[in-house]
Order: sequence, then C-alpha cells, then structure tokens
Amino acid sequence: MVKQRTLSIIKPDATKRNLADAINTKIKEGGLNIVARKDMQLTQDQAGSFYEVHKERPFYGELVEFMTSGPVVVQVLEGEDAVAKYREVMGDTDPANAAPGTIRAEYAENIGANSVHGSDSEENAKIEIGFFFDETELAG
Ligand code: ATP
Ligand code: MG
Repeated sequence: MVKQRTLSIIKPDATKRNLADAINTKIKEGGLNIVARKDMQLTQDQAGSFYEVHKERPFYGELVEFMTSGPVVVQVLEGEDAVAKYREVMGDTDPANAAPGTIRAEYAENIGANSVHGSDSEENAKIEIGFFFDETELAG
C-alpha cells in the first residue's frame, strides 16, 4: 500500500461544540496523521466554489450557508489508503446510517450538519488540498 493524502474539514456544527480535539483523536486512532492545519472562517465564495460539484443539488444553498456559519478546521491527512480510511473513520453522510464509533455516529447532528468533510477520491483529494494549501505549506 502507498501513502496517500486526503482533505478533512471539521464543520461549523462541530467547532461550535468544541469537538475539534475529540475528532482529531478519532482521526489519529484511525491511523491517519495530520500533516497540515488551517483554522479559518469560509467566505460564501470559498464555500460556494469548494462545493461547486453539488451546485445543482437541492441542498446546495443550505450547505453553503451552513459551511459559512462558523469556524472550520481544514486539515490534510496522510496515511495508507487515506481517502478510503478517512471515509471509514467519518461514517455515512447521514448519522442515522453511520456505523457505531464513527465520527458522524458520535457527533453529527443530522445529514447536513454532519461534523466533517472528507474527499471522496484520490483525484478529488488533490484538487481539494490544492484549494486550501500551496506547495510550500505542504513541504516536509
Ligand atoms: P462530504 O463531502 O462533506 O464529506 P459526503 O461525501 O458524505 O460528505 P456528499 O454527498 O458529498 O456527502 O454531500 C456533501 C455534504 O452536503 C454532506 O456532507 C452534507 O453536509 C450535505 N448534504 C448531503 N446530502 C444532504 C441532504 N439530503 N440534505 C442536506 N444536506 C445534505
Ligand atoms: Mg462528498
């Protein structure tokens, strides 16, 4: 297996409840290393273009609104099979369907306010990491 990177965002519902440390504990327990971190507040433009792929979906406006409603923690995770591994650690999009012990099972409020984002493919991980971080921030 080769080392891979993925993008994680701890969403506003979680930062508002001070869950970033608890979520990062679960990430590390899952065998993933946090190699870069930015604490930020997304603008409407940033959230809108980050979630551009969902533009035609009925929840797009709500999603952009939610993602700009408070601070987020944007992180690059690294490990073996990181994309799939992190999606396993997050659990299903809908917390009602998320496996016990996953981040979303334990912390998500609902399908929208679901505490975390994770890239869904290696290709998208590269695009999403590039959206928030430049090469110099990822060196080393
Ligand atoms: P993410 O991309 O955030 O990691 P995901 O890949 O599990 O989540 P997507 O289908 O990509 O799920 O949806 C992106 C985000 O849009 C979800 O995480 C959630 O916050 C929101 N979302 C998805 N489906 C719904 C819905 N039916 N109603 C409201 N919000 C939704
Ligand atoms: Mg997704």
